[in-house]
Amino acid sequence: MSNRTFTMIKPDATANGHTGAILQMINAAGFRIVAMKMTHLSADKAGAFYAVHKERPFYGELVEFMSRGPITAAILEKENAVEDFRKLIGATNPANADAGTIRKLYATSLGENAVHGSDSNENAAIEGDFFFSKLEQF
Ligand code: ATP
Ligand code: MG
Repeated sequence: MSNRTFTMIKPDATANGHTGAILQMINAAGFRIVAMKMTHLSADKAGAFYAVHKERPFYGELVEFMSRGPITAAILEKENAVEDFRKLIGATNPANADAGTIRKLYATSLGENAVHGSDSNENAAIEGDFFFSKLEQF
């Protein structure tokens, strides 16, 4: 599992019509999509996914945003997947993201930043299993 990461195309990018362009960038960067689905998180599910941020002041806003509309969830495979994907998406705040990164191109703000990327191999596995059964991970 150490060559895998987990991503979501968030509700802002979905609503703005960027899903196809973002998937294209993911493939062009050498990631293989090994699981994928479009879904709409309930507030409960979004809250559970981001439970690690429960005590943060932005938690309520984050849960509201992530349950606002459909997302695309996917598991991606590539050597050094977690680190390389974080480089591809860029800094959390698009104002600080490098040119050419997904967030620089498609994020609108710190809160509405187009994509999620796992921050460790351990969390990649937990997050992938949150959305996909083992039978759905290829
Ligand atoms: P993600 O986990 O979604 O890939 P990240 O790892 O870059 O993002 P985290 O610190 O894990 O950043 O924060 C999770 C998400 O919470 C961010 O992507 C963003 O949508 C939101 N967020 C983080 N900090 C703030 C903030 N100060 N104000 C509003 N929203 C925030
Ligand atoms: Mg994070």
